[in-house]
Amino acid sequence: MSDETPDETPICSAKGCRAAAVWVLAWNNPKIHTPERRKTWLACEEHRGHLSAFLGVRGFLKDVVTLEEWEASRSSEGPEGSERS
Ligand SMILES: [Zn+2]
Repeated sequence: MSDETPDETPICSAKGCRAAAVWVLAWNNPKIHTPERRKTWLACEEHRGHLSAFLGVRGFLKDVVTLEEWEASRSSEGPEGSERS
């Protein structure tokens, strides 16, 4: 198992990219999500611009933060069974 990517290492969401994620893009599609709902995409340095532009042109992008900040802000809100869906 040593060459498998461990679950705790977040990987970039860009298609075909297996780089470690550095950024979290928080987004929401108002047509299918309630306003407070946040979907997240992970991005490496290389794909942050591409993925945020993709969401941005659709008006979905809400926030871009580093993975570190994202996890810190989530843990301070306490667990609420909000596993990724
Ligand atoms: Zn990437």
